[in-house]
Amino acid sequence: MALPPQGARAVDLSRFTCLPGLIDAHTHLLLQGDATPADYDEQVLRESAPYRALRAAAAAQVALRHGFTTLRDLGTEGAGFADVDLKRAFDRGILEGPRVFASGPAMSVTGGYPLLGYSWERKMPDGVLKCDGADDCRRAVRFQVQNGVSWIKVYADRGYRQRPDGAFESITNFTPEELKAIVDEAHRLRRRVASHSMTPDGHRASLAAGVDSLEHGDVLDAATIRDMAARKVPYCPTLTAGDAVRGPRSVENPIWDALWEASQESLRAAVKGGAPVAFGSDAGGFDWHARNQADEFVLMVQAGMPPWDAIRSATVVAGDLVGPVKAGRLGCLEPGCVADLVAVEGDPVADVGVLRDVKVVVSRGAVVKGR
Ligand SMILES: [Zn+2]
Repeated sequence: MALPPQGARAVDLSRFTCLPGLIDAHTHLLLQGDATPADYDEQVLRESAPYRALRAAAAAQVALRHGFTTLRDLGTEGAGFADVDLKRAFDRGILEGPRVFASGPAMSVTGGYPLLGYSWERKMPDGVLKCDGADDCRRAVRFQVQNGVSWIKVYADRGYRQRPDGAFESITNFTPEELKAIVDEAHRLRRRVASHSMTPDGHRASLAAGVDSLEHGDVLDAATIRDMAARKVPYCPTLTAGDAVRGPRSVENPIWDALWEASQESLRAAVKGGAPVAFGSDAGGFDWHARNQADEFVLMVQAGMPPWDAIRSATVVAGDLVGPVKAGRLGCLEPGCVADLVAVEGDPVADVGVLRDVKVVVSRGAVVKGR
């Protein structure tokens, strides 16, 4: 075993359980809870991008203190490429912060994403970058890459409803040509694509286009699970956000309660069917300060996922999905891995709830919490 470098400080963690730094593969640093459309519009309309970036920096501190040393941030919701700026500030040590995989404004089509419902006479800001037609979508991917994103986030479906027979249906945002163009151009430019997709219509379109991860996956049918397992395409179940928004949103539309119910069933089926599951809480969809994103572990286990698999989802599985980085592999604790680790009291395999109370956090080789 190699000796520690001269002057290195020894930290005794022998009474703790140590794990790799946790990875949340689905967050929104630039969002501070949007249970209702009013919450969303308020942030996009009344808050400047600099103000939102300051709030995001505070959210990143919360994440780091909760043990999340890596975030894949999937959309700035009207704040442009502020996530790329945050990443730069954290990487350069201007501010203490997690490793961030940024995706900029995310992408949808005309009419497919808020802000919506305002007078047609007004030019309202968009929560995403919109593109129409395969060529325009290729151009949009190039624009995202020009501005420093490492992932492309697309919104594949919207307009969820349930048929009388109980089946869910949605509107797919992109034509097959558009979505294929986005994925092709992203891959050509060495970027990967995360696809917001809640229903089988969205999953079919996303998987046919060749996306690299599905996001939410509230309703996973057998064909989707088979395809995910065969092609090793993971999904982020985002149960914490589903739990946080179902109350406020179901007042307007009971579909959100139905989707929540379906999401539990889907996670069980995905685990059983061997589809990879990556930890993703959708933090930002709920208030970073009101709820610990580690709640996702507890909700995953409550839904029927074995605790060991839930822990792997936020370490090796998410690490393989987003990494590696120059400093090493993510989501592991051995030579060749980055120096990110957390320590908890007790046994997280016996009780994943202990992951909500991380005692020590080491990020990029520095102790940032505890000891
Ligand atoms: Zn999200």
